[in-house]
Amino acid sequence: MSDAPTHTPVPQFDLAGQYASIREEAEAAVLKVMASGRFILGPEVEALERELAEYCGCANAVGMSSGTDALLAAMMALGIGPGDEVITTPYTFFATAGCIHRLGARPVFVDIEPASFNIDAGKIAGAITPRTRAIMPVHLYGQAAAMDAIREIAQRGNLPVIEDAAQAIGAEFNGRRTGSLGLVGCFSFYPTKNLGAAGDAGMVTTDDPRIAEALRRVRNHGMEPRYYHASVGGNFRLDAIQAAVLRVKFRRLEGWQQARRDVADRYRRLFAEAGLARESTNAGDGIVPPIELPHRRHVYHQFVIRAPRRDALRAHLATRGIGSEIYYPLALHQQECFKQLGYRQGDFPAAERAAAESLALPMYPELTPGQIEAVVAAIASFFRQ
Ligand SMILES: *Cc1c(COP(=O)(O)O)cnc(C)c1O
Repeated sequence: MSDAPTHTPVPQFDLAGQYASIREEAEAAVLKVMASGRFILGPEVEALERELAEYCGCANAVGMSSGTDALLAAMMALGIGPGDEVITTPYTFFATAGCIHRLGARPVFVDIEPASFNIDAGKIAGAITPRTRAIMPVHLYGQAAAMDAIREIAQRGNLPVIEDAAQAIGAEFNGRRTGSLGLVGCFSFYPTKNLGAAGDAGMVTTDDPRIAEALRRVRNHGMEPRYYHASVGGNFRLDAIQAAVLRVKFRRLEGWQQARRDVADRYRRLFAEAGLARESTNAGDGIVPPIELPHRRHVYHQFVIRAPRRDALRAHLATRGIGSEIYYPLALHQQECFKQLGYRQGDFPAAERAAAESLALPMYPELTPGQIEAVVAAIASFFRQ
């Protein structure tokens, strides 16, 4: 591997590259919706729901206006509200806990397991109280949480499991796909997610037909029949144009998932060859590559390393035109808006350490071997200086 002075710029995301590969089909699909005049829900949304339910191995999928609204609608359909507690991870995108809070419930955080960045199942039982109404694991970065242990704890406490699968469509645990591992699964089609819309979109999956019915009511103001409201919902409906774009992309999804896995393999091989792979950030100059835990299929929404002097490394990469991002720089129990929850620094040391050490490298199906080499070479040059 050469550390050529001519640096190859590598952006953190490249949606333009993906668009070029689907342009004709996507534009035709959008124009078809325009001509149909069916802009909200309707046949495109229903077709997408059928395709994604099958993909996730679930009886039902209900399209939603975003991943955030999917989480909100799922909790509303389960009747979660004021005074309730929902157990989740402090190391995730804000929406996970934000939705719990918005319903008047309390997010109860449990620290993460360092290897996967996912909630530490062994610590969940200790967080259950008489007010606990649900457990909400997040399959962070595209790798499933420890769903066997989580389901067992949930069953013992008769608690529903709500999967935040926003980053993990197609990820598997013991051969079963996310969205079918809990009572409900919530997905985001934010443009940079593994399956991304041309705007906001989301989905909830469930095997339970009554919950599916409740989700369809909740996403449309609780209305059933027309203009009669036995309960209050919201406008969480999915647009037909988004569904049409998603259906075009869905046909490529498995190919893209494999391409992401190939990118991850190449990163790992190059880090090992360059002598940069470490088991811990205490082990000196080098980085800790992401780990695939047993019984899982990781779909690499993100390729997240740990690095000592993370912020300096990130700045070094930026000078060489290499994009990177920090998911997430501040754990949720330390956010200003959750001050009243009463958590303190030090409460969740693994999450706090992840916030200080994690760095997401460019990860998308279109990354070329040369670009991956450029990223690894730039990291190697940081530790040589
Ligand atoms: C993206 C994301 C969401 C929210 O999805 P939006 O479609 O952006 O509303 C929720 N949880 C996690 C873990 C996410 O990554």
